Amino acid sequence: MHNKTIAEISRDLAAGEYSSVEITTELLSRVKQLDSQYNSFITVTEDQALAQAKAADERRAAGNASAMTGVPIAHKDIFCTNGTLTTCGSKMLSNFVAPYDATVVENFNNAGTVSLGKLNMDEFAMGSSNESSFFGAVSNPWDTDRVPGGSSGGSAAAVAARLVPGATATDTGGSIRQPAALCGITGLKPTYGRVSRWGMIAYASSLDQGGTMTRTAEDSAMMLNVMASYDAKDSTCVDREVPDYTASLNNSIEGMTIGLPKEYFRDDLSADMQQAVRNAIAEYEKLGAKVKEISLPNTHLAIPAYYIIAPAECSANLSRMDGVRFGHRCENPKDINDLYKRSRGEGFGNEVKRRIMVGAYALSAGFYDAYYKKAQQVRRLIQNDFVNAFKDVDIIAGPVTPTPAFKRGEHTADPVEMYLEDIFTIALNLAGLPGMSIPCGQVNNLPVGLQLIGNYFDEARLLNAGHQFQLATDWHQQKPSGV
Ligand code: GLN
Repeated sequence: MHNKTIAEISRDLAAGEYSSVEITTELLSRVKQLDSQYNSFITVTEDQALAQAKAADERRAAGNASAMTGVPIAHKDIFCTNGTLTTCGSKMLSNFVAPYDATVVENFNNAGTVSLGKLNMDEFAMGSSNESSFFGAVSNPWDTDRVPGGSSGGSAAAVAARLVPGATATDTGGSIRQPAALCGITGLKPTYGRVSRWGMIAYASSLDQGGTMTRTAEDSAMMLNVMASYDAKDSTCVDREVPDYTASLNNSIEGMTIGLPKEYFRDDLSADMQQAVRNAIAEYEKLGAKVKEISLPNTHLAIPAYYIIAPAECSANLSRMDGVRFGHRCENPKDINDLYKRSRGEGFGNEVKRRIMVGAYALSAGFYDAYYKKAQQVRRLIQNDFVNAFKDVDIIAGPVTPTPAFKRGEHTADPVEMYLEDIFTIALNLAGLPGMSIPCGQVNNLPVGLQLIGNYFDEARLLNAGHQFQLATDWHQQKPSGV
């Protein structure tokens, strides 16, 4: 049963093949038996999951079930869940029980979806390897000495290990697409504003966006149908109709134009990685797509701009963690300054501190124009690159990561090395565009992802392109040995 996709579970529940309580019980026991190998969960909410499953079965019996009713998923521990520990992977929030549900969580609860618990992540979503979590590193199910990617590494590992068929995640600079690629699953980062950020703990507010981790594009469409909504509580959430993302999955992609940015196929992308991505493009050509070389000339500026803008925003967002209202508080503070300093000094890990310092510096009076303002100007150039490209193409395709999953500890000594992991993913966040990673090959028996980038609010087209590829290939069905 644990190998079933969301679509299969949804069909089986509707057909009465088994109940939500049965599949929830089975997955909970897998989490208990196997997760010590991966460390993908921070909190397992067993009692609540079984109560939700029972309620879902009753709702189905009463004839009010929707497609996601009774389907088990789990949430990245960045989403506030009422009455449950919500840690954001940090010591700072290691005692924080959220007093309300994030809108995303509420949407899933309203749909009758079952949550098995909260998934591990890099501290405050800063990282590309899930090694910065206060709750310990997460292992990649394909090779437990390797990282699952980050920051949504718990979400990716849990789905790849078949502990849950789907999970929520967030992507500020690549944190859905990169771990999805390294774990051989499908990850969708929607357009900025498509999914409410209310109750999603803020890292860099102008970049953060919630999305999905699943095994297939079809399952992502099913999750996005529930997850996307207009929410007046998030002023950047866009009031735009949510289409049924499953309705267009079976459209033909004959004649679709795919742009290949020449900057994404550089010499330092290894020959093996290039080959895996090029094979996937060839598959699209077989399906009737047309391919066109394009240029995104400011690609090389994306990482420098991001590492000013994201730290600047995080230094402001994280100032609310001060030991006074919630979160970690130091013992016996001498005075208020001591309370702030020691609570924050003890509560935050090194990567978070590094970014707060960089951000506070970039925003300070003498440096604002040189750094923050300049980075925002570069951001506009990057956005213009995409706007120009989308005049000629329907979607853009390329690699997700420069390499397959790397070993734990391989990039921890030099933060800049870790930052370069997101070289192909970050530009899209600066522009606010939707992007998806789908499994498209293997290098050294490790999965490789293909990135598909869409125009604003064109998630349906991305999901359609992903689904058509998955009907024609079986990379998404490959799984780690022993799973
Ligand atoms: N790896 C990037 C960072 O460390 C992106 C993280 C994310 O998307 N949350 O900031």
